[in-house]
Amino acid sequence: MRSAARFSVGLALCLTLLAATPQQDEAAAIDQGKLVQPGRLVVAGRRLSCGGTATLLRDFEGFAVSSTVIMLNMQALKDLPRPVQWLIYYHECGHILFGPSETAADCYAVRRARREGWLNQQALEDICAVFNIAGHGPVHPDPEDRCNQLRQCFAKKGTVTSR
Ligand SMILES: [Zn+2]
Repeated sequence: MRSAARFSVGLALCLTLLAATPQQDEAAAIDQGKLVQPGRLVVAGRRLSCGGTATLLRDFEGFAVSSTVIMLNMQALKDLPRPVQWLIYYHECGHILFGPSETAADCYAVRRARREGWLNQQALEDICAVFNIAGHGPVHPDPEDRCNQLRQCFAKKGTVTSR
């Protein structure tokens, strides 16, 4: 596991993937969490994996944090639409694979989802609507931009590139 500093950076970056959920006052409650081995994670009825990366389920501020493990706050996730929950996981997986670039992580997530057959154009638009409404968070000031990038990645053929 890397330094706490890197953890906070990851948190700041990832908080905004979907900012639709209201601020959680109880988020300060941190417990030790539960480590789920690679390939064993099931979120909203779907088994999710990210190579050899384990997942740590715990309470923290936000949804998901990347480091050498993927951290998920199931409390924050549970009220989101199922495809959104899965996309958040894949977004974090994108960080594991491609580093801190939000664009690369987003792109990886939507393209993997499309390849797996559960994300279509309409679902993508629904997701965009969700984070456009709430999109005045401090980290991603322009959710419209982000959505345009998601749409471009979704439409694009070929390999995912990182910056
Ligand atoms: Zn991110």
